[in-house]
Amino acid sequence: MIPFNKPYLTGKETQYIEEAVKSGKISGNGMFTQKCQTFFEQKYGFKKALLTTSCTDALEMCAILANIQEGDEVIVPSFTFVSTAIAFVRQGAKIVFADSCPDNPNIDATKIEALITPKTKAIVPVHYAGVACDMDKIMFLADKYNLIVIEDAAQAIDSFYNGKALGSIGHMATFSFHETKNIISGEGGMLTINDDRFIPRAEVIWEKGTNRAEFFRGEVNKYGWVDIGSSFLPSEIIAAFLWAQIENIENIQKKRLQHWDFYLEHLAEWANKNEIKLMSIINEATNNAHMFYLVCKSVSQRTALINHLKQNEILAVFHYISLHSSPFYNEKHDGRILENSDNFTDRLLRLPMYYELDVENVVSKIKKYEN
Ligand SMILES: *Cc1c(COP(=O)(O)O)cnc(C)c1O
Repeated sequence: MIPFNKPYLTGKETQYIEEAVKSGKISGNGMFTQKCQTFFEQKYGFKKALLTTSCTDALEMCAILANIQEGDEVIVPSFTFVSTAIAFVRQGAKIVFADSCPDNPNIDATKIEALITPKTKAIVPVHYAGVACDMDKIMFLADKYNLIVIEDAAQAIDSFYNGKALGSIGHMATFSFHETKNIISGEGGMLTINDDRFIPRAEVIWEKGTNRAEFFRGEVNKYGWVDIGSSFLPSEIIAAFLWAQIENIENIQKKRLQHWDFYLEHLAEWANKNEIKLMSIINEATNNAHMFYLVCKSVSQRTALINHLKQNEILAVFHYISLHSSPFYNEKHDGRILENSDNFTDRLLRLPMYYELDVENVVSKIKKYEN
């Protein structure tokens, strides 16, 4: 069976883990953590990067940093992973779900302004498939209404919008290094901060509400409890694994892009004939080849295609189910119909995408499907 995802190992992971273990420092914020954070800050222009135990945790840090309180409203696309919403729900926010664009799953920035009320505190654009949302429009609205923008860039490492790295545009952003993402550490994530106002508090929340980071820089002469927080930092064992991946980021990205381009080129005609749409990239954005998806003409066509691929030993999978109609949020949602989000819920299909993928084989099997 060709899986949907297969974690890629560069070969250096266990060597670096061994180095971390032998160094005697295996808790968080050590040498490997700092190497990873510095790499990301320098390569992508984040003002501050903090490794976290997951993207979900980084989102929870954002909800605390944005000072989200009971009754505040946060605008989140409905077509996203639960973590994007949960972080704010835990702080007592009301989630105002936004629809996707008609032709891609990203939040439709032209419809955000109508959702803003005096209670709105933040907008959380999700760069689906690693492809940028309309960040110019979103940052314009944030400025106009004094809102905080938190990019959920879980899928968006090494992807750009008008020359700026995703995760460097909003006030803060979050990334995932879960094994299904491009660069991995099993579980893992990162918070990035681009607005100086939030940096000191982010370090405190990261380290269980203490000013330990300042203490280690020699800025205060003892450290103690100064705020709320949790243990959001990963151990050096995780960071060592991540460092091996980072060293190979160019190679990993190049290979994924080759697969992606192969899909696009060799499926174009087949897709056209079967009234299936292939993923496309807006002009302002680059492609990080996190994912290759199709949009089928109907839910039944998608089911038929999934079954066809299964018979050919290939696992292709659909994705999110609109959060506004989830069992948990359904009754709290204000009843607006989010047509495009529901459309992608029913019709989007993700093809296998990973470093060692035999893309030619997958394409040849896909092309045998006709309806
Ligand atoms: C993967 C993902 C997450 C969660 O990441 P974890 O590191 O597993 O917590 C959140 N949002 C989106 C859009 C994702 O794709």
